[in-house]
Amino acid sequence: MAAPYTVHASILFDPKKKAFVKDVSVTVDPKSGLIVEVAQRPPGSLGESVPEGDVDLRGKIVMPGFVDAHTHVFLHSYDERASLLQKRDESIVERIVRAANHCRTALLAGYTTYRDLSSESMGEGDAQLRDCINRGLTPGPRMFVATRALASTGSYEPRTENSSGGVCLPMGGEAVDGPDNVRTAVRRRLAAGADVIKYFADYRRRIMRYPPAQQHPYIVGVTHPPADPNPDLLVFAQEEVEALVQEAKMGKAPVACHAGTIEGAMIAVKAGVHTIEHAYFADKELFELMKEKGTVFCPTLAVCERVHHRRFDAIKRQTKLAHEVGVRFACGGDTGPYPHGQGVREIELMREAGLPLEDVLEACFVGGWEACGGDLCGMRFGWFDKGLRADIIALNSDPREDKHALRKVDFVMKDGQIWKRDGKGVGMYLNDHDWDQGDTYTPLK
Ligand SMILES: [Zn+2]
Repeated sequence: MAAPYTVHASILFDPKKKAFVKDVSVTVDPKSGLIVEVAQRPPGSLGESVPEGDVDLRGKIVMPGFVDAHTHVFLHSYDERASLLQKRDESIVERIVRAANHCRTALLAGYTTYRDLSSESMGEGDAQLRDCINRGLTPGPRMFVATRALASTGSYEPRTENSSGGVCLPMGGEAVDGPDNVRTAVRRRLAAGADVIKYFADYRRRIMRYPPAQQHPYIVGVTHPPADPNPDLLVFAQEEVEALVQEAKMGKAPVACHAGTIEGAMIAVKAGVHTIEHAYFADKELFELMKEKGTVFCPTLAVCERVHHRRFDAIKRQTKLAHEVGVRFACGGDTGPYPHGQGVREIELMREAGLPLEDVLEACFVGGWEACGGDLCGMRFGWFDKGLRADIIALNSDPREDKHALRKVDFVMKDGQIWKRDGKGVGMYLNDHDWDQGDTYTPLK
């Protein structure tokens, strides 16, 4: 389908109005991948069927493609295998094949954008996978990637008690210390293809103590004496974070900050990061500062439900408090540690926390775009307007009435290309495509 065509909706969620509106037609150009026109239809102006080549989504609930603002394509559910074991034991090929599967699954679930916040011991593999998707080699969401996350020495690195040299662990985050080295690392990340700089404000870095049970920093909430055996401790000093943010700003890249502690989040927000991830121990003062600075909050409730279940009610209340304070939200559940394809669990949990549906959807779409850096990411998506990426999905059920509606994705379009229709994947394999980049093989002479 190379010529522009029109998608007709009877009910469409308009993120800019935060409202469900009626009778809208969206014309898209599959060549440029952009929306070329958004038009309000006079009632009754379409007959039984739409013009040939157009798409009839009347009777469904139409919205922009979902944006998952916190994912890890190279991780699969921790219920299946712990993070350290995935990194230590799975082959590079297995991890790549799994990631390709995750991307296809996510796209079919309506996710047209992934902000992938570190490759988890796969180096720059996330940037390379992004490029493969963009080149049409494998289907998946549009990816904005961090490559390796930054943290200081002895924090976000795979560790075991066996330091005899016999255990070889893959390198994870990039360990850097001091403002100058942090600047260098940001430059290195951008040169390696990162779209976003991800760093750890704090981490469980003093885990290697208090036997007898063997411990690992990725395992949350291990209970040993003393009272707080596995505390989150600051990873970077204020001057290091400021250097990081300034350097990223120079490279016009957004910064995402993993924060467990209020202290770490405060340093990040004051330094001007774009997003705060997790912040499971946040308070009103932090949220007020975030509101003042326009920092986007990605509460990652979906992973929290699994790893912090004992504090989960408190964390949901705190999410509600952030909403009351007026903090800007994005929706990303730390997808990977729980299954790809179930990203909407985050939206469902934000609803459970007491946030209105329209606010959560707007946060998913527009907040998601903002989390990717907004205009820094070089394109617009997440609402309907001329010149935006043509990302459109349709649900079989109305989320105002059915709390599982977001899981009933019937239609998916990304960049003007249809990937799901009548509930089935289409164009998933190369031979389904119209290739206009020259599909004839020229033998060597
Ligand atoms: Zn994460």
